[in-house]
Amino acid sequence: MNKVDLLVKNGKVYTEAGFRDFDVAVSGEKIAFLAMPGAIENGEKTIDAKGKYVLPGIIDFHTHLRDPGLTHKEDFETGSRAAAAGGVTMVCPQPNCDPVPNTVENYRKEIEAGESKSLVDFNPPASPLLYEEGWVPKLAAEGAAWFKIFQRVASYPYSTAAGTANTAHIFEAFKEIAKTGKYCSIHPCDNYILNYAEEKVRKLGLPFTRENVMSFKSTEEEQVGAAYELYFLAKQAGMKWYALHCRHHTGQVDLVRWAKSEHKIDVIASSEFNWGLFQPSKLYDVKRGEWFEIGSKPPPADRSEKFWAGINDGTIDFVGTDHAPGLREELDPDPTKLFAGSAMHPLLEWYGHLLLNEVNKGTTSLERLVAITSVNGAKIFGFYPRKGAILPGSDADVIICDLEKEWTITSDKVYTKCQINPYHGRKMKGKVTHTILRGEVIMEEDKVIGKPGYGKFVPVY
Ligand SMILES: [Zn+2]
Repeated sequence: MNKVDLLVKNGKVYTEAGFRDFDVAVSGEKIAFLAMPGAIENGEKTIDAKGKYVLPGIIDFHTHLRDPGLTHKEDFETGSRAAAAGGVTMVCPQPNCDPVPNTVENYRKEIEAGESKSLVDFNPPASPLLYEEGWVPKLAAEGAAWFKIFQRVASYPYSTAAGTANTAHIFEAFKEIAKTGKYCSIHPCDNYILNYAEEKVRKLGLPFTRENVMSFKSTEEEQVGAAYELYFLAKQAGMKWYALHCRHHTGQVDLVRWAKSEHKIDVIASSEFNWGLFQPSKLYDVKRGEWFEIGSKPPPADRSEKFWAGINDGTIDFVGTDHAPGLREELDPDPTKLFAGSAMHPLLEWYGHLLLNEVNKGTTSLERLVAITSVNGAKIFGFYPRKGAILPGSDADVIICDLEKEWTITSDKVYTKCQINPYHGRKMKGKVTHTILRGEVIMEEDKVIGKPGYGKFVPVY
C-alpha cells in the first residue's frame, strides 16, 4: 500500500454515483485510493471532514488575472491567492493581458508569469487573431485548452489585440481553429448597437449618465444578435463553438438550447457570475472603508431565474467568475467610457462560498454545482480525469465544504490586489473550509498557506 501523506476522513465524497461516505487517501500529488470510513487510522497529515462534503477543486473557466502587463490591477500571485481562498484550484486566465498570448513567445511569457507566481494550477486560452501568420496550430500545440476572441468593441478599455476583430477576421480565424479541433469562445458584441447607445440617450433627452447609457448597451438585441451570427459562422467554418456569456439574456440561452438540439455543430455554453447572479451595483473600497457606486442598475429580478434555469436544465455546461479586478481610480466619470465600471468586479475569493450559499437557498443542487464548476469543463477541455475527479490517479485537488456554517463576509483580509469587496457584510450559509491542490493544503480555515510558484501550467493537446 502506498504511503498516505494526507487522509481526508469522515467526509461525504463526490463520486459519479453521488455523494458517498469515504476516506480519501492521498500519496504525493495524487489521490491514492478511496477507503471505507475508518479503514485507515491516520495519514502523515489527517483532516477530519465529519459532517462536511469533499468536492473536486473548483476550476474557474473564466477569470482575468491581468498578468502580464496590467499587474497594477492584479497579478498571478494576488489573483491566485484569492482563488485559493475561494476554493478554486485551477484558473483559465483570459487573453486580454499585455502582451496578448497570440504567438508562442507571448503565450510562453504568460505561462512563465504563472509558473513563477501562481498558487493554483492554470491553463490560459490563447488568442487566434494572428492566424495569418500561422500561429493557431502552434498555440494549440503549446497546450492551450481553447481560443478566445472579443468581438470588435471600439470603447472597451482593454482593446489590445485580444479583443479587436471584425467579422471577416473572426470567420478566417474560425477556419484555422477548426483544423486544430479546439473550441473558440467569443464575447458576442454588436459594435453598431453598442455605439448607438450614447446617441439614443441624447435623442430621448435623458440625463447623460453612465446608468442611462449602460441601459442601451449589452442589451439582448446587441449581444444575442451577435451570438446568432457567431453561431452561424462557427457552423460554416466547421468549428466547435463555445457560447460565452449566456447569462441573463433568454435569447442566448434559447439559441444554445436550439443549437444543441440541431446537432449540426459541436456547441458548449458557459455563464459568468459577474454578468448575472452576483453582479453588484456598488462596491466596497477596502482601503477607504466605504461603498462607491459604479453606475449600473442591479440586475432585474427575473434574470437570476433564467440564468439558473439554463444551468439546471443542462443548457449551460459550466460557469466562470469573470473575476475582473480593477482600481477605483481608473473608474472614468465620462459615461462614454462605460466598461471601466462594469468591468470591475473581483469575485474569486468569495466564489466557492457564494455558490454553497446558493445551494443552501435551493437555487441548484450540490451535484449540479460540482458539474458546472469542475467536472463538465474538465471533460470538455481534456483536463479530466487529471482534474475534475476524485479518483485514484487523479490530481489530489479537493475542497472541503461545510454547508451548515453561518457567517458574514468581512473585509478584514482581502487578497485581490485591487482591494475591492463587492460582498462586504453579506450574510452567508456554507463555507469552503479547506482548499487542497495536488495534495498540498493551500487554504485552511480562512488562511491561505499556499506558496507562489506551486501552481503549474496544465497543458492539453
Ligand atoms: Zn471576461
